[in-house]
Amino acid sequence: MQRDSLVFDLIQKELQRQRQGIELIASENFTSLQVMQAMGNVMTNKYAEGYPGRRYYGGCEIVDQTEQLAIDRIKEVFNCQYANVQPHSGAQANASVLLATLQPGDKILGLDLSMGGHLTHGSPVNFSGKLYEPHFYGVKKETGLVDYEQMEEVARRERPKMIICGASAYSRDWDYKRIRQIADEVGALVMADIAHPAGLIAKGLLASPFDHCHFVTSTTHKTLRGPRGGIILMGKDFENPFGLKDPKGNIRMMSNLLDMAVFPGIQGGPLEHVIAAKAVAFGELLSEDYTQYAKQVKSNAQAMAKALVAKDYHIISNGTDNHLMLIDLRNKNITGKKAQETLDRAHITLNKNAVPFDDKSPFVTSGIRVGVPAITTRGMNEEHMQTVVNFIDKVLMNIDDAAVVSSVAKDVHSFMEQFPLYPELG
Ligand SMILES: *Cc1c(COP(=O)(O)O)cnc(C)c1O
Repeated sequence: MQRDSLVFDLIQKELQRQRQGIELIASENFTSLQVMQAMGNVMTNKYAEGYPGRRYYGGCEIVDQTEQLAIDRIKEVFNCQYANVQPHSGAQANASVLLATLQPGDKILGLDLSMGGHLTHGSPVNFSGKLYEPHFYGVKKETGLVDYEQMEEVARRERPKMIICGASAYSRDWDYKRIRQIADEVGALVMADIAHPAGLIAKGLLASPFDHCHFVTSTTHKTLRGPRGGIILMGKDFENPFGLKDPKGNIRMMSNLLDMAVFPGIQGGPLEHVIAAKAVAFGELLSEDYTQYAKQVKSNAQAMAKALVAKDYHIISNGTDNHLMLIDLRNKNITGKKAQETLDRAHITLNKNAVPFDDKSPFVTSGIRVGVPAITTRGMNEEHMQTVVNFIDKVLMNIDDAAVVSSVAKDVHSFMEQFPLYPELG
């Protein structure tokens, strides 16, 4: 059959775009070549509904081994007892935990989307806000830090069945012990969604949720640097504190309830080719190289925050503990939308983002979110953060000057030549 040049040319162009630009989207990263290669493989042809050793189809003896390897490796990475590596995405992982533990109409309590939370934590446009009754906590206006008093107050008033912590645009660590105390007082379960900072947690650079949270979910493609996908983890695999039942009314181990919620609950056949790539990525997480990477991410984020503050950029909560930060651009009189669009023309990619208590619509916003996982994978260190901030500042300070913006684009291209991306791909 003829090669589909239409599609492969577009793939080549996307590679070129990724090579040339500065990637600051906090949720993106670059997988290793072997993770990518593991993803494009014959396991895409295999149906494997079920779990290793208990499948509904024949011929699963090989995919059983890759899936088991992925499970064993990620359990070792987080030193936890239960892992499900089948969720197609972070959203599916969260959907599975809620399906396993709640009844429609039950109350959930999560961080407000406009304060840094995620759609799957109770947004009215998401299943989580439609099937369940969502309530929210926020961050404090003065400090930008999670308002645990508000979490406690809403929890006492509403008595939710599930408290969700974790965020998409929050630069500080979480007090999991305190969250668990609040949950225990009102009889709630706790789910920590570590989709963003998982890699830093894996390496002990942030607090671990495993001792305090019943469930931990994550994506695999953000700081974890694997293929796009999700995982569900538990520190202990036996707890079913509230005697939760399966759809037939039997009390089961929590691990069984979670497995059943992923399949057959919300998914059909697992993506065994992606699971193979997850296994490769999880192996990389165990390496010394990745430990160095995670440390570099954290110190690059701090160097970037410092360089931004020196140029009078206002960072929510005044800094970062993790890999990202949220910049409030109101003192610069620039909207998040305009900043994103103009930086894009200079081939600096990031996203507009609402800041806490934003007065602008989510389509405009007052802020931008900046993350360093991708540029750290490209090989940048603390000194390069200053250069990146200089580029950003030059664009934003000349936001209506197309000539300056395109000169920055040229400078960005030559700067990025120092950091080859997938040289093996030609
Ligand atoms: C990215 C993210 C998700 C969802 O991940 P997808 O793979 O895009 O579905 C879930 N929760 C949080 C906190 C996230 O940041």
